[in-house]
Amino acid sequence: MGACFTRLNVALKPNNLHVYNTLTRSKERFEPLNPPHVGMYVCGPTVYGDAHIGHAKSYVSFDVIVRYLRHLGYNVRYVQNITDVGHLTDDADQGEDKVEKKARAEQVHPMQIAQKFTWSYFEDMARLAVLKADIQPFASGHIIEQIELVKRLIAAGHAYDGGDGNVYFDVASWPKYGKLSGRSVEEMIAGTRVETAADKRAPADFALWKRAEPGHIMQWPSPWGMGYPGWHLECSAMSMKYLGESFDIHGGGIENQFPHHEDEIAQAEAATGKPFVKYWLHNNMVTVGGQKMGKSLGNFITLKDAFEKWDPMVLRLFILQSHYRSPLDFSDEALGAAKEGYSRLRGAARAIRNAAVHAPDKEVEPNVVQLVAQARNQFSEAMDDDFGSAGALAVLFGLSRDINQMIAGNIVSRTSLGLLYTAITDLGQDILGLRLLDEYQEYPHLSRLLHEELLIKHIIELRGAAREAKNFAQADAIRQRLDEIGILLEDTPQGTKWRFK
Ligand SMILES: [Zn+2]
Repeated sequence: MGACFTRLNVALKPNNLHVYNTLTRSKERFEPLNPPHVGMYVCGPTVYGDAHIGHAKSYVSFDVIVRYLRHLGYNVRYVQNITDVGHLTDDADQGEDKVEKKARAEQVHPMQIAQKFTWSYFEDMARLAVLKADIQPFASGHIIEQIELVKRLIAAGHAYDGGDGNVYFDVASWPKYGKLSGRSVEEMIAGTRVETAADKRAPADFALWKRAEPGHIMQWPSPWGMGYPGWHLECSAMSMKYLGESFDIHGGGIENQFPHHEDEIAQAEAATGKPFVKYWLHNNMVTVGGQKMGKSLGNFITLKDAFEKWDPMVLRLFILQSHYRSPLDFSDEALGAAKEGYSRLRGAARAIRNAAVHAPDKEVEPNVVQLVAQARNQFSEAMDDDFGSAGALAVLFGLSRDINQMIAGNIVSRTSLGLLYTAITDLGQDILGLRLLDEYQEYPHLSRLLHEELLIKHIIELRGAAREAKNFAQADAIRQRLDEIGILLEDTPQGTKWRFK
């Protein structure tokens, strides 16, 4: 399905895109390091359970960011990792590996857990029409790169072997530590609840490499003995491998600013001496009925459960109705409103499709040209302001209202309908990723419709002939088959008419 949304790169369009950069806490004009190329990395899921609605918010938001950048003509290389090793239960240096813990509970190999939930994640994302990342590296597939980065940090005097097979980043050696989260080292230490490991020089130091305890399955040989990488290390190592030592955009959840992203910056910049990332983009969290979502709170909603109740596209639209940097409150009422909104957009696309069947071939109406230009400008203005998808959606709702009025009010030319159709699918479907027509209803050019129309007329004639010959079984079968591909027949005193469902 995803393939129908991919688009070829076009020349870079002049734009006024501004993005909110967490690093500078301000909106900045977007100027990539090597235009028209854009390197973008987003922290992917830790694959030890089914994805939940928080994941949907994050990856739908970054999907729209990638789609919009591509729409502007940027040649985006989008990298998103899969964490299958090293993410500990308390997010810091203590606790159990999340994947190993789940594997132990289910008595399977940790890689079975990682694989199972990776496929599950891809499946959920496909249903949400989230485009695949260009590169989706696994942490366990990049152990060599991670060991090399640790060696580089030790050689540069920014990391040390605690003597017990654990290697730590020496925070005191890196005065810029804390520049992303704005926290001082003292504040960070005060905020940690975990006990300091005996082989750490200072409590703020964090693990780059962990010694494998007895029974730990996911382990690899290293210069410091058998062990596994610290969670933060993979993102520095893999982003630099695929995007270079300095790149444009790093995205992730707001909850990962500290320690995860702070540590990524320290690891990368202390090793290379270069700025790691130009723009840091952080996505906000999902709450349920105003409450933080959590397994222990009993309000945890997986995507598979949510899809039982809601069309994935309704969920997608719901997410896009708020800004990616704002928290999103999940409730049945809010989803109900999103459902209504989605059917309004689909209704407009279908109305164009149906009107085009009998529309006159005449010159394009100037008011339609103006309306479309205005909608496209307003849409761009909203998106240029830090990917304001809510404003962009409001433009689409306005456009769909105008479309319905025009079609109901007078006869719009086939060319004008083509213009409206291209606008609503470019903006709603290609950029916002909302499926507005079922695949069988899509058409790239209205001229194709002429052929369809002739073909369907011919089929209707065949059905008429079958009925005349009292071959009702065949006539019904024809109607049924057309129905299956989304075409409804209506027998009227003026003859049989057809329309899309
Ligand atoms: Zn990460």
